[in-house]
Amino acid sequence: MKVIITGAGLSGTVAAVLLKRAGHRVEIYETRPHIAGNCHDGKTGGVTVHTYGPHLFHTNNTMVWNFLSRFTAWNGYQVRVVADTALGRIPIPWSLASADAAGRDLTDSGIRDLIFRDYSEKQWGIPFAELPDAIRNRVPLRRDNHDTRYFTDRHQGQPADGFTAMFTRMLEGIPVHLGVPEGLSMEAAARADLHIYTGKIDSYFRHRHGRLPYRSLRFEHTRSATRQPHAVINQCNTLPWTRTYDHAWFLDENPAETVVTREYPLAHDDTNEPFYPMPFGDGMEIHARYKALARNLPHTLFLGRLATYSYLDMWMAVAQAVTLLRHHLSPADRKDLL
Ligand code: UDP
Repeated sequence: MKVIITGAGLSGTVAAVLLKRAGHRVEIYETRPHIAGNCHDGKTGGVTVHTYGPHLFHTNNTMVWNFLSRFTAWNGYQVRVVADTALGRIPIPWSLASADAAGRDLTDSGIRDLIFRDYSEKQWGIPFAELPDAIRNRVPLRRDNHDTRYFTDRHQGQPADGFTAMFTRMLEGIPVHLGVPEGLSMEAAARADLHIYTGKIDSYFRHRHGRLPYRSLRFEHTRSATRQPHAVINQCNTLPWTRTYDHAWFLDENPAETVVTREYPLAHDDTNEPFYPMPFGDGMEIHARYKALARNLPHTLFLGRLATYSYLDMWMAVAQAVTLLRHHLSPADRKDLL
C-alpha cells in the first residue's frame, strides 16, 4: 500500500514508523522546514531550546513508553513548577507543600480564584466560567501529600539527546519532504492508497464550515548568564504572560548562557501557529460538522491535536495513532502495541 502522510510531527511520525514496519510504502510531506512538529528542539549556544514551548514527556501507558524507548534513551527528568500568586511563590499543583509555602490552606474555590482564574483567562482568552471542566481540572489538587512534581506518571523523562534526535531516528529510511505547501501533499495523497492527515481539519476542508478557533502562543526568548531558579514559573496573576521557563533544566545542561522564554497566549490567525484546539462552545459545534465530513473519506485518516481537534498530550498522540491505525499494522505490531 502507498501511504502519504501530511505532517512530520509526533502523530505523523508514529504513523510512518508503524506503517513502514508493516511493509507499506510511506512518504511524508511537511510544510515547515524541519521535522518533529511542535516537539522540535535545537541547540542555541550550549542549550537545547524547545522551539514551540516546553515538552515534558510523561505517561502511565507502558506500551507508549516502550514504543518510544526503541528510539531514545531517557534522562529521568521530572518537572517541578512554581507559580507566582497573591499568596507568594508556591509549588503547583496545589499540595500540602503549597499550603506550607502559602502559610495557609485554601478551599477548592479559593484555589480556583487565586491560582486558576487569571492564568486560565490569559491562556484561553475567554471567561473562566466558560471553560470546560476537562481543562479546569487538568491540573490536579493534592490534598493529602507534599508531592511537588508536576506529573506523577510512572514513566517520565526527556529524550536523552533531545526530541529532534529521537524523531530523526524514527524517520530513518522514510522519505520526508520539508518546506512543502500543503497543496502538494494533497496532490500526492490523491494518487495514494491511504492518506494520513495531521494538519488542521478546517484547513483540510478549505474552511467550508468556517474557521475553527485555536489558541496560539508568542515566545519571547532572553539569553541569561544565570539559570532561572525554577524550571518553570507560572504567573497566576494579570501579568500579560502565563509562564517563563529555562530550557537548560530539561536536559540538565550547563551552558555559559542559557535561554529563558516568556510565553504569551493569543488568538490564532494566519500569521501564527495553532497550538491548542478549543473544543468547547463554537469550536465544538464547528468541529462536529468537519468530523461528519471526515467520516465520509474512507481513504483518509485524521490524526493528532490539529486534525482531531483535541487537547492531546504527547503520549496520547502516540496512543491515538496506534489505535486508529490498528487495521493497517502488521500482526506483530498489533500484538505488541495494542
Ligand atoms: N492552569 C492554571 N494555572 C496554572 C497552571 C495551569 O490556571 O498555574 C490551568 C490553565 O487553564 C491551563 C490548564 O490548567 O490551560 C492546563 O495547564 P497545563 O500546564 O497542563 O497546560 P499546558 O502545559 O498544556 O499548556
